[in-house]
Amino acid sequence: MTKVKKPAIRVRLAPSPTGLFHVGTAQSGVYNWLFAKHHNGQFILRIEDTDKERSQPQFEKDICAGLEWLGLKWDEFHRSSERQGRYRKHLEKLLADGKAFWCYHSKEELAAESAEQMTKKEAPKHVCSHKFEIRSTKSETQHAIIRLNTEKVTDQDISWDDMVRGEIKFGLNTLGDISLAKNLDEALYNFAVVVDDWEMQISHVIRGEDHISNTPKQILIYLALGAVPPRFAHLPLLLGSDRSKLSKRHGSVAFSQYIESGYTPEGMFNFLAMLGWSTPGGEEVFSKNQAIEWFAMASIHKSGAIFNPEKLNWINAHYIKQLNDELLTDAVLPFVEKHFPAYAKALADRSEGRGRLREVVLKMAPLLRERLTYFDQVKEFSYFFVMPEYETSLLIWKKGDSKKALLALEAVEKIIEERAKEKELKPTLDELAEEQFAGDRGMVYWPLRVALSGEKFSADPLEIINILGGAEALKRIAYAINKLRLQP
Ligand SMILES: [Zn+2]
Repeated sequence: MTKVKKPAIRVRLAPSPTGLFHVGTAQSGVYNWLFAKHHNGQFILRIEDTDKERSQPQFEKDICAGLEWLGLKWDEFHRSSERQGRYRKHLEKLLADGKAFWCYHSKEELAAESAEQMTKKEAPKHVCSHKFEIRSTKSETQHAIIRLNTEKVTDQDISWDDMVRGEIKFGLNTLGDISLAKNLDEALYNFAVVVDDWEMQISHVIRGEDHISNTPKQILIYLALGAVPPRFAHLPLLLGSDRSKLSKRHGSVAFSQYIESGYTPEGMFNFLAMLGWSTPGGEEVFSKNQAIEWFAMASIHKSGAIFNPEKLNWINAHYIKQLNDELLTDAVLPFVEKHFPAYAKALADRSEGRGRLREVVLKMAPLLRERLTYFDQVKEFSYFFVMPEYETSLLIWKKGDSKKALLALEAVEKIIEERAKEKELKPTLDELAEEQFAGDRGMVYWPLRVALSGEKFSADPLEIINILGGAEALKRIAYAINKLRLQP
């Protein structure tokens, strides 16, 4: 049987499905994917579900959905839980070679040992005192786990040339006889990861720096297996605004939250890539193809990057501005349906359906393009979809009174009834302000704005009329007039 030669560069993302897809994991995914694409290599997704109790299918789904949304297509997919037979094979070999052994120390004994080491300010480790004793009674073997017989593997300290951080070294005496598996059928994390990376011919392990303490243990396992370790690159972690590790208290760390808020995949990719990596010309906004072309591990920062939501909004707004009316409408439509279900339903009940809703949103596209930083913000434009409700006093301009507001709206009503087209409206309304209110446009536009939107700050009233249409605008003006007339 001839072996098929695999591409030289093979990287992997190996998340544990024990929680929602984390933005930090997404960033590791981005860098792995960019490294693979830059070198024409392969990007492998491996779900590291060795922890049976904490792993859940819904989290695996969340991880896959997030990666797909970002456009990080994987070339291979694996699940550790389906590979227990592979781990068993290697465990049996290590046990037979004397490179692994059964440790019978109880949890209590190990905890006491590590507590003592802590008080002596030593790194907690276990060097087993009874390697290769044969014990067989149930009470003796109930705590047994499989450990690496480290002294049989090497007498050298463990070091590697990290692609981000340079040489990293761990004294062998800090490691001890590391644990490999609970039993022949339950490999522990470090052992499973090494067997998987080795058998999948992973050339570069690119992951967060929180894995640095795992790396010397994994190198020991490679040595025990007689395998060559891959190159390692430990990425700086994402930080919160206070420079501590990014966590829930800094805002959302669940990637799905950004999908639900209506960020663009292009904006999110760009943001994650630029946080922690410098482009050759210092560009902050770049396409996927540019990132692939420019990507170099040497330009990954050594210190952590602050996850700044304002920067994300700025980048995302840039991508929203690139969308044409049609694409923007398609992207916003689901958010309109989510926030204004009654409006969507009313159109559907009148057999106008989604086509009519799309027409309304399409008219709004130029306004939304200028104002949205993410699509969910469309909820702030409720007055396009819901008849506004407001205090009557809001209709009154700061220099006016209710009589003048009424006068203005009655005049506007008449003007709109006579001239339906927006382009004729502005000069006519300006003229009204000139003639009736000594040139104070607020006297006309303020009550009109409130009548249309119910808000102090809204889109331009003429733009609102254009989008709502003359009939709806007149209905709202008539409602405002009625409110003013009912004023005591
Ligand atoms: Zn022991």
